[in-house]
Amino acid sequence: MVENYRIRTPRIDKPVQRQSARQLIVTIDGPAGAGKSTVARQLAVRLGYLYLDTGALYRAVAWKVRSAGVDPEDGEAVARLLPALQVSMDQRDDGVHMAVNGRDVTDELRTPEISVMASQVSANPAVREWLLPVQRRAGEAGGVVAEGRDLGTRVFPSAEAKFFLDADVNTRAGRRQQDLAGAGRVAPLERTRQEIETRDQRDKSRAIAPLIPAADAEVIDSSTLTVEQVVDRMMGKIAAKL
Ligand code: C5P
Repeated sequence: MVENYRIRTPRIDKPVQRQSARQLIVTIDGPAGAGKSTVARQLAVRLGYLYLDTGALYRAVAWKVRSAGVDPEDGEAVARLLPALQVSMDQRDDGVHMAVNGRDVTDELRTPEISVMASQVSANPAVREWLLPVQRRAGEAGGVVAEGRDLGTRVFPSAEAKFFLDADVNTRAGRRQQDLAGAGRVAPLERTRQEIETRDQRDKSRAIAPLIPAADAEVIDSSTLTVEQVVDRMMGKIAAKL
């Protein structure tokens, strides 16, 4: 069988502490702007684990949908694109590189337009089914910190450590605005807030794999916590299982 995806994610950095013999699956779910990516990356470094950004996979599908000129809400037309879709994720020194059918699209995935389209295509059951084995293969051997919306509920229901990272909407909008500024994009705070609220609402209300904490996830509100405080708290829970 010809694989239509490829994920190469070597350990993202030298582990700060000696790598444990037990290779756990750690999941971090939560709404947009809660700080999942920053925290997941730091946690992966501390543990010497893989970092799996599943939102980037949905964004890659959205990129394909846009470049094909297909309406992201047209479920059947989107599903028809999937057999010819090739997605690859490569961890390099300067970060994760995403390619769609051989073209590096890394710098094109973080725009507000692709955020909305990713949320639209992610409600499509065909897209979620297509991405399920991609994510599972990347993480099934353990030693992974995977972040997204349904990692603890659906992708890795047996993960040993599950977290749901949340923060109030104004904090999340501020963080997202800073991310965009870091990428050279100016975005008014109010518009950013509305965009993430609309996206969260869609992610929470979709019929398949909605954004909700897994029953066995620890919910962390990061509104008044620093990144280090969140990572330390997660490490406390993980350390008990290593
Ligand atoms: O995390 P990020 O903002 O990059 O995700 C983009 C969109 O992809 C989310 O708004 C969500 O609709 C979708 N997504 C998802 N399930 C995941 C990861 C992302 O539905 N596990």
